[in-house]
Amino acid sequence: MQLATLIDGAALAAALRRRAAEVAARLRSEIGAAPGLATVLVGEHPASQVYVRAKARACDGSGLSAFDIRLPGGISEARLLGEIEQLNRDDRLDGVLVQLPLPRHIDPHQVLGAIDPAKDVDGFHPVNVGRLWSGLPTMVPSTPQGCIRLLRSVHADLAGLGAVVIGRSNIVGKPLAGLLLQVDCTVTVIHSKTRDAGEICRGADIVIAAAGQPGMVKGNWIKPGATVIDVGISPASNPEGRARLIGDVDFPSVSKVAGAITPVPGGVGPMTIACLLANTLRAACRRRGIADPAF
Ligand code: NDP
Repeated sequence: MQLATLIDGAALAAALRRRAAEVAARLRSEIGAAPGLATVLVGEHPASQVYVRAKARACDGSGLSAFDIRLPGGISEARLLGEIEQLNRDDRLDGVLVQLPLPRHIDPHQVLGAIDPAKDVDGFHPVNVGRLWSGLPTMVPSTPQGCIRLLRSVHADLAGLGAVVIGRSNIVGKPLAGLLLQVDCTVTVIHSKTRDAGEICRGADIVIAAAGQPGMVKGNWIKPGATVIDVGISPASNPEGRARLIGDVDFPSVSKVAGAITPVPGGVGPMTIACLLANTLRAACRRRGIADPAF
């Protein structure tokens, strides 16, 4: 029996995309062009191809222009940096993102650091990372931003709640920990060397799993009534052999104990893309000295 309330990320994301469409329409009439987002895909990583297609579709659906830049997997780092420089200068573009992971011969830090911070809609440039941790206006990475929005749909006030983040990557775990601190949660970050992860989670009001370890969070890790956000996405197949995605949370056991829970799919994933649209529109406004739109 499931007791937890299902947090409907797909519905929340649809509302955010509708709002993005309104802002994009207003900008089109003010500046005479659709705000533009370039996605750079290096090589043919299958999951990355799915993600960039989804981002382009979302842009189309909300009235932004998508520029789908595909580069060969064998491209040199120098050539890739040159391509990014051109995108930085391209006035049609408000946002530039490089889909990760990159081929092994390319240093992602060099590449992310080459994106103009004003167009860095993923929020991975060191300047934007530093601004986030300093509490300054910045580009907040989409997945952590989406997690906060999902939490706010359940908790009017997050102050004082104990939050555990499982995972400390630069793209999810670390920025999420920073955002949770900004909203006055008491934050603990778990990683692969942490001892007694289950014991730590059991004391938390909020558990956010972003480890990429299918089903690692079990029902006996969760305090009754806690809110559980599942960022993890791992490919799997169902008993009939059909491809599906599974999260880091063992949904059947956790949903019997938690107060609220996100599903996979339909939780964090759609919010991530909607938040990327919002970031692109923020970048479009900031570049032109227009006040940030409300999202
Ligand atoms: P990374 O592999 O970069 O980071 C995983 C993190 O989890 C690391 O910090 C690692 O610790 C930690 N970890 C791994 N195993 C364990 C364990 N057994 N116990 C505790 N911590 C562990 O992944 P990402 O952050 O990029 O992504 C995490 C998951 O989220 C993936 O499944 C990814 O597909 C998904 N994702 C989903 C998105 C969405 O839109 N829904 C967007 C982005 C990611 P250590 O640092 O010690 O190695």
